[in-house]
Amino acid sequence: MSATDAQPMVSLRGVDKHFGDLHVLRDIDLDVAAREVVVVVGPSGSGKSTLCRSINRLETIDAGEIRVDGELLPEEGAALARLRAEVGMVFQSFNLFAHRTILDNVSLAPLKVRGAKKADARREAMQLLDRVGIADKANSHPAQLSGGQQQRAAIARALAMHPKVMLFDEPTSALDPEMVGEVLDVMTSLAKEGMTMIVVTHEMGFARRAADRVVFMDRGQIVEQAPPAEFFDSPRSERAQTFLASVL
Ligand code: ADP
Ligand code: MG
Repeated sequence: MSATDAQPMVSLRGVDKHFGDLHVLRDIDLDVAAREVVVVVGPSGSGKSTLCRSINRLETIDAGEIRVDGELLPEEGAALARLRAEVGMVFQSFNLFAHRTILDNVSLAPLKVRGAKKADARREAMQLLDRVGIADKANSHPAQLSGGQQQRAAIARALAMHPKVMLFDEPTSALDPEMVGEVLDVMTSLAKEGMTMIVVTHEMGFARRAADRVVFMDRGQIVEQAPPAEFFDSPRSERAQTFLASVL
């Protein structure tokens, strides 16, 4: 392996975060390799969303270091905007612009932040919509789409920035059950194409199928991590055993 292959795409060292008296991230060390798919699981309130938001610098951390592709997270300004582009984020709520078409939603940020040409941005947006299976919705507005279609549009929008890593924070939690599969399918194909992904989810079937590694968090700590078969079949900690008993 060359030196660049060995460099993690995302690296956290000694990361600490408080909200007032609440210690939500406790000395987190985590490396995610390029092309790796890490699924983060754990009870509600364990710090999973804060972890994701810190990697995108939607939250500041109190101590420690976070690097993306070797670079420390910038504090602000143009460098921060560039980082946000490199770290795609998909939330539980889709956060699409309601008054714009789906095509606009996917092509706006490349135009503004990446300085893409309009025709190029729209052509690529169409390709991305095709890839997530909603090319026929390009000229619709978000409210005209189902939840699953909106979330697929949100994934296309993040991909339009050519991210180095994609963060997903419970992307299917707000969806009706019949729409969960179509979003997980898009995520599974992204994973197969080699996207580096950090996925917070309660979809344990997806974790088993798509994860290279499962990271279990509880009370702000990474309690254990293992390949999915090992984690699900023989969790080591009592906390993970209790958690799995409650969700499986
Ligand atoms: P998870 O995603 O695992 O459910 P979160 O990262 O959302 O956990 O939250 C971790 C803890 O931090 C929870 O106790 C939550 O209530 C608290 N928390 C999250 N965001 C804030 C905030 N902006 N202000 C205060 N407390 C927060
Ligand atoms: Mg959360």
